[in-house]
Amino acid sequence: MVYRPFVLTVKRFRPTFVNMVTASPDAPTTHAPARLHGTPVVPGVGWGPALVVSTEVSPEAVAAYDDSALDVETALAAFDEAVQAVAAGFEKRAAATTGDANQVLTASAGLARDRGLRSTVRRALRNGDPLLTALDGAVDHFAGVLSDMGGLMAERVTDLHDIRRRVLARIVGAAEPGVPVPDEPSVLLAGDLAPADTAGLDPALVLGLATERGGPTSHTAIIARQLGIPCVVGVAGALAVEAGASVLVDGGAGTLEVEPDADEASTRVEEAAARRQALEAWDGPGSTADDQPVKLLANVADARSAQAAATGPVEGVGLFRTELCFLNRTEEPTVEEQTDIYAGVLDAFAAADGEKSRYVVVRTLDAGSDKPIAFATQDGEENPALGVRGLRLSFADPGLLERQLDAIAAAARRTGTETWVMAPMVATVAEAAAFADAVHERGLKAGVMIEIPAAALLAHRMLEVVDFLSIGTNDLTQYTMAADRMATDLAHLTDPWQPAVLHLVSMTAFAGTEAGKPVGVCGEAAADPLLACVLVGLGITSLSMSDAAVRGVGVQVGDATLAQCQRAAEAALAAADPASAREAAARALAE
Ligand code: PEP
Ligand code: MG
Repeated sequence: MVYRPFVLTVKRFRPTFVNMVTASPDAPTTHAPARLHGTPVVPGVGWGPALVVSTEVSPEAVAAYDDSALDVETALAAFDEAVQAVAAGFEKRAAATTGDANQVLTASAGLARDRGLRSTVRRALRNGDPLLTALDGAVDHFAGVLSDMGGLMAERVTDLHDIRRRVLARIVGAAEPGVPVPDEPSVLLAGDLAPADTAGLDPALVLGLATERGGPTSHTAIIARQLGIPCVVGVAGALAVEAGASVLVDGGAGTLEVEPDADEASTRVEEAAARRQALEAWDGPGSTADDQPVKLLANVADARSAQAAATGPVEGVGLFRTELCFLNRTEEPTVEEQTDIYAGVLDAFAAADGEKSRYVVVRTLDAGSDKPIAFATQDGEENPALGVRGLRLSFADPGLLERQLDAIAAAARRTGTETWVMAPMVATVAEAAAFADAVHERGLKAGVMIEIPAAALLAHRMLEVVDFLSIGTNDLTQYTMAADRMATDLAHLTDPWQPAVLHLVSMTAFAGTEAGKPVGVCGEAAADPLLACVLVGLGITSLSMSDAAVRGVGVQVGDATLAQCQRAAEAALAAADPASAREAAARALAE
């Protein structure tokens, strides 16, 4: 997922600070249980002393700071100076990083300098608030606004809290908080990490990461994936582990083990390293050990990410999220402009050297909810995740969809790339039929996403009117479990291993097998190597994911026969909860 800066336009805040509790060689033994469970995010095994990061700061500097006598201009100047220093720090670290980490740090710098934040502080100062109260109030206000927006926007609350504690530290003359560089290679345990903290981690010194909060699609998770640091989130009790205790993070199994057996731990680390080497050598195409083909595809957001993905071992794109091209646009781009943008992505997969092109699945605008777009979405919805998002935007404004389809068709003609088009947030067969007609009229293959349980239940009828289905497990999980996909406290529910979700996937895949039409998965579930085997066992024909995850999935699927994948799928479907589903699937694959 692309991380983009945005401008605050528009309530409560509790300051949090990060302090390191340093590892001590003779630390007392832990009181935490020996094995804690969370949501696995980045596979791999990290073993080392626990470096516990707690959200607390010495209150002395804050208590000693007296802002009661500052006039408005002096107080605002102190705020400005602190903000500039914090933003410059982010930019400096951004310059030393690439990819998602760079984007996160650059976005944090932009957020720190946000004009809306400054004017809210200024207004509070003019109303007589002392500086620190004004800062709290402004951050509270925007954190509340972002939380209410939900989804991706709600994730920015962590960034905002991080900025607040850094600005506060600068104002009171304390050291800017953050995760310090470990003295020795360690496993980091934290409540939650600000993206800016994660972005600065050195994989040579941070062997693994376990956080109490944060979901599989949080920015901590995204950056850990880029850095290749084994990571588990949602680990209740991680902070109860004693600093310095020997801990092992298993980012594939989703466990944090305290004081593991040293011989066993070192074997597991070695096995994980060997596995990583195998990953680097893997070059596709995807298939099971007994040659059942499984298409591995990339999720892309724009021409740049498409070009990067095209260099990898993928057979095409399974999800081009077109709305991500327009997050900052206030006016709908013309058909010509849209054509150029889409052609940029299609071109990356166009035929080369007389070979057939790879194919690209373009998703029409999934604006709304966590991805508001000024020219498309409605303001002030009570419950945007259940509101007018995705295909529903075309009910009141059919021209929006028509123009986008015209542009996609024009881009397909221009590049010659095989182009499939699918709609997000489809709830009924009638919606699917109308969409398919509009796509077929333009000579392209039509499909719909299965993100709403209603659509999964009627997958067999959807397939009477469309050419393919693509399961969006992120939303399908959210709507099946009635749990906001970004709610960090609900990570145990927003887990695609939930057996209820797997049953809906199974039903959809079965419909595809019966109809002889492709059914793919393009949500984050496809990027989980173990779950990928289960999905294959359920009858899924393609898996689409961030390009960083492709090799891991390719290797694991390639190690298993179709029959093993099917046994793993049966075991996962029969499990009572995500953790036992994972264990049962892993056992079935090992047999
Ligand atoms: C999904 O819901 O799984 C999906 C792929 O769509 P998005 O994450 O863009 O909502
Ligand atoms: Mg979705």
